[in-house]
Amino acid sequence: MMKAMVLEEYQRPLRELQKEIPEPGENEILVEVVACGVCQTDLKIIRGEIPPPIINLPHIAGHEIAAKVVALGKKVANIRIGEVGVVYIYASCRRCPFCLGGMENICRHVRRIGFEIPGGFAEYLKIPAYNFCSFDNKLSPIDMAIAPDAIGTAYHAVMQLAEVQAGQDVLIVGAGGLGLHGVQIAKLCGARVIVSDRHPQALAAAREMGADLALEAGSGLGKAIQEITGGLGVDAVLEFVGRKESIGESLNSLKRGGRLILIGYAPGQPFPVDSMAMHYNEWQIIGARSCTKNELIQIIQLAEENKIRPCVSQIFPFEEINTALAVLQEGNMTGRIVLDYRKHN
Ligand SMILES: [Zn+2]
Ligand SMILES: [Zn+2]
Repeated sequence: MMKAMVLEEYQRPLRELQKEIPEPGENEILVEVVACGVCQTDLKIIRGEIPPPIINLPHIAGHEIAAKVVALGKKVANIRIGEVGVVYIYASCRRCPFCLGGMENICRHVRRIGFEIPGGFAEYLKIPAYNFCSFDNKLSPIDMAIAPDAIGTAYHAVMQLAEVQAGQDVLIVGAGGLGLHGVQIAKLCGARVIVSDRHPQALAAAREMGADLALEAGSGLGKAIQEITGGLGVDAVLEFVGRKESIGESLNSLKRGGRLILIGYAPGQPFPVDSMAMHYNEWQIIGARSCTKNELIQIIQLAEENKIRPCVSQIFPFEEINTALAVLQEGNMTGRIVLDYRKHN
């Protein structure tokens, strides 16, 4: 048997239950969770904002997983028992036009670990062998747990969607768990990176991660950006907040022909678009969703080379998950919260 923290009812704390340890199918592996990040999306799930058919109760969430391989399905090759790695979140079909086009993150038949499939808020889970990405033993599983989402989503947005180039100006809106990695990745690309956030401690963290300029978020942001860029605006805005008020200032900050990448989202809160401004400026507004497995492997390599620093700000024992979720809800974090499953005694 294993311990699992289960969502039985929306808006309620997760409940500790004893569950059967899952049996891996022939192309699956069984992993023992070592660390698992908690994410704003987990709060959305708990509040009932991601309803069926995606989330069905009772549900085991958790999608930022570092884990150790403990059993292999019959057909699994090239993975060894005892290997430690992270779990790529998207269980894609690998047959649809999107998968074949290298966009498994928007697979038509995708099922996600911690969403449609039970996730990491349990001591063990089974995953498709394809989704396991091992990393060097010298890296911390606590740090690496956040690679599939907090780093991966930022990486995909900066590299694949914004295509940030050396010498460009980039605005990162929201220096939270994802935005702080967006700063590091945009710097790796050689851009000048400007960050905006409402919280002074987030701005301080962004500077520490290499941001060139850090500005308080608010109605004057677009004007400030215009001044900094000599009236041109920035080449790309990485919008990690995704709320109406914030997106308005993000567009005010954008250069002609620039790209606004929407990573953050607010369910049921659409924002207005001025079609004439879109026309005159040839702005591009692009949605961003997670990352590909190949990008996750690139991130692991960057971490192994010390080029990306995972921003983990607090660690809680697995059993204290409800406290961790409450701290996340408070929203004063300057990095990610990660659960540690290892016993300390
Ligand atoms: Zn997430
Ligand atoms: Zn597919």
